[in-house]
Amino acid sequence: MRITHLWLPGFILLPALANAQSALMALQPDRIFSGEKLYESGEWLLIKEGYVVDIIRTETELPPGAEKQQLKGKTMIPALIDAHAHLGYQSVNSWGAKNYNEANLLDNLSQYAYYGFSTVFSAGSDPVALINELRATIDLKSLPVATPLAAYGVAPTGFGPNNTFLDEIRTVEAEQETNILFGLDQTSDIQTLIKAVEPKRDAIIKIWVDDRAGTQPKLAEPLYTELVNQANQRGIKVVAHQQDSVDTARLVKAGVAGFLHGRFEDEIGEELSRSLAESNTFVIPNLGLSLLRNMTISEDPLLIETLPSATLSRLGSRVLAKTDKTMPASNSNDLIRWQLDQLISTLDASIKRSFGSATARGVPIILGTDAGALPDHFFGYTGHKELEIFVALGMTPEQAIGAATYAAASQLGLNDRGLLEKGRRADFLLLNANPLNDIRATQDIHAVFLLGNELDRKAIVGRLTQDRRD
Ligand SMILES: [Zn+2]
Repeated sequence: MRITHLWLPGFILLPALANAQSALMALQPDRIFSGEKLYESGEWLLIKEGYVVDIIRTETELPPGAEKQQLKGKTMIPALIDAHAHLGYQSVNSWGAKNYNEANLLDNLSQYAYYGFSTVFSAGSDPVALINELRATIDLKSLPVATPLAAYGVAPTGFGPNNTFLDEIRTVEAEQETNILFGLDQTSDIQTLIKAVEPKRDAIIKIWVDDRAGTQPKLAEPLYTELVNQANQRGIKVVAHQQDSVDTARLVKAGVAGFLHGRFEDEIGEELSRSLAESNTFVIPNLGLSLLRNMTISEDPLLIETLPSATLSRLGSRVLAKTDKTMPASNSNDLIRWQLDQLISTLDASIKRSFGSATARGVPIILGTDAGALPDHFFGYTGHKELEIFVALGMTPEQAIGAATYAAASQLGLNDRGLLEKGRRADFLLLNANPLNDIRATQDIHAVFLLGNELDRKAIVGRLTQDRRD
């Protein structure tokens, strides 16, 4: 598949930007949480041509001619970043290689934007050139969707992702006549790989170090050590899918940029936490991946918004018997909250301990969901649930939002976003409630702005919820 400009007229179906602005715009919400700092004394966010000019303390300091807008009752936070997902395979209807095409990629990215995400890192399951081309087109046309990043997938030849996903990725490789997964079996493969990857702008390599319960060979330590070493010399980031905390320790030593799965269940001890913090190596807890499997997500108003009715009936609603006196009787929002709280309370004590000590020791924990890696683990929606999990496990809401914005941007090398400060992209959410009091307020979105333009969220929903055939 080549991205051609032929598909651009199709964008009439996608939302147009509500107001393309070039003038100075000043917004005054009740509070601004920049991703790092809290402003709640009536400050104004000043925007020009899609970028933050400054945060201004008083109205009298605003430059003349600024178009002012007061946003009573609203809290502003930076747009979110999902640092671990797999684009293209999940559609609003179904999952698999058959969905991997440009229209579905754009659906996925507009779904992310709807839920307030500016950026998504798709980890090792895409033709990288295709995603790069798509990203360039999006930048060029200022299309109202999240920015996609992709990685080259590396594992022993013929392996890497779990066996089900592996088959789907191979199907896409065959259909697109391109490589997604690159084999690493001997030292000489490293040169070839680096040569292929090096000229690409901001290349990222993802390695799989996992024997999938004995069904696959594990990428050998000398091979990944040498690969990471050579990649780092050239400024190429290597991120890892690892099996357990023993691998985590070895990979930190090798110099990977971060981990796509926390493996907290395997006890990230004091020493490992310290070395992760000292080396500024990120960890994505990814706890929602297993927890959300056990929830009646099809009853969650937050998810229902973006799915066609056919998908909701396929997912089915599970009528739960009232077996616990703390279980709410009717309200869907309350029921979903209750379910997630129950599941979090059943998490192994070692996970809670590891998560707590990693947070306390300053391990760079960032948001990632693995959305799209398996059926019905939906884009955007899952990120908000992960934030709830972070806070339930002891992060402050400030830390959780930081993990999903500023920290994620800096770990991915995106210095133009993730923080509301002078010179960065004006990508932000306006929330109807204060997430610093209750993190669930990130789910109560009044508006999403990307590059200073308000998204037409209704139009996105209109498109996503159309009943259609794959
Ligand atoms: Zn993944």
